Amino acid sequence: VASLEMKSEPTAVTVGSLTIGGGVCGVIAGPCSVESEEQIMQSARAVKAAGATALRGGAFKPRTSPYAFQGMKEEGLKLLAAAREETGLAIVTEVMTPTDVELVAEYADVLQIGARNMQNYRLLEACGESPAAVLLKRGMSSTMDEFLLAAEYVLSRGNERVMLCERGVRTFESHTRFTLPLATVPYLHARTHLPVVIDPSHGTGVASLVPPMMHAAVACLADGLMVEVHPDPPNAASDGPQSLTPDAFAAAMTTCGKVAEAV
Ligand code: PEP
Ligand code: MN
Repeated sequence: VASLEMKSEPTAVTVGSLTIGGGVCGVIAGPCSVESEEQIMQSARAVKAAGATALRGGAFKPRTSPYAFQGMKEEGLKLLAAAREETGLAIVTEVMTPTDVELVAEYADVLQIGARNMQNYRLLEACGESPAAVLLKRGMSSTMDEFLLAAEYVLSRGNERVMLCERGVRTFESHTRFTLPLATVPYLHARTHLPVVIDPSHGTGVASLVPPMMHAAVACLADGLMVEVHPDPPNAASDGPQSLTPDAFAAAMTTCGKVAEAV
C-alpha cells in the first residue's frame, strides 16, 4: 500500500496545524519528555514563535534504564492537550503499548511509534485502527524493507495517515549517539508516497550537530523535521545533550527557511 505503484503522487498528512508532505516541510519540535506544566508551556510558546507547526513531548518514555524517568503518563498527556489549547499546535507523542492507544489518541493528534517498537506488530495494528495520524520511527537496526513493512501493518488496518521518520541507526561509530543517514529521504521518495521526516536530535545525540543536519534535511527535500528543544537543556529529564535551546532552534529555523528558498 505504501509503494509508488499503488499511488504515484506523494501523500501529505495534515492534522490541525501540522502538514507533513506535499512540498511543505512541517516542523515538530519540543522537549524529549513532558516534565511539568511550566516546562511544556514554555517549550510550546518558544517553538511556535520560531515557526514550528507541531509540539512534541513524551509522556510515556521508552528508557534504556528502568531506573530512569519513565514519563508523566496521563498527567503529561493532559499538559500536552493544554499546550495545544493555548498555542493551537498539533500534538505528537509516543504510545508504547496497544492498550494505551485509545488513551493517547484522546489527547494527541499524532501517535508516535518509537524506534524500539517499530516491529511491535500488535502496537502497529492498534495504531492502524486509530483515528489519529501515526509517526513511525525507524528501528535503530532496521532495514528499509523492514521499515516499509512495519508501515504496511498500520496502513493495512485502514489508517492512511502514516509518516515515516528516520532517526538514525546503530553503527560501529561512537562519536555520535546514532548515525544519521540523510540518503533515506531521496531513497524512500523513490519507493513510497509516504512522507519522510528527519529527526536530527536522536540521529546525532549532540546539540551542536543538530542545526546543520536540520539544514541538510531541508536541502534533501525532507517532508518534515522532528527536533528536541528544551528551555533548560542541562536540566532536562531526558536527552538534554541533544536538545536545542529555544534561541538555537530559532536560529536554525531561520537558516532552514533560506535553504528551503534555495532548493
Ligand atoms: C523520542 O522521540 O524521544 C524517542 C524516544 O525516539 P526514538 O524512538 O527514535 O529513540
Ligand atoms: Mn528523546
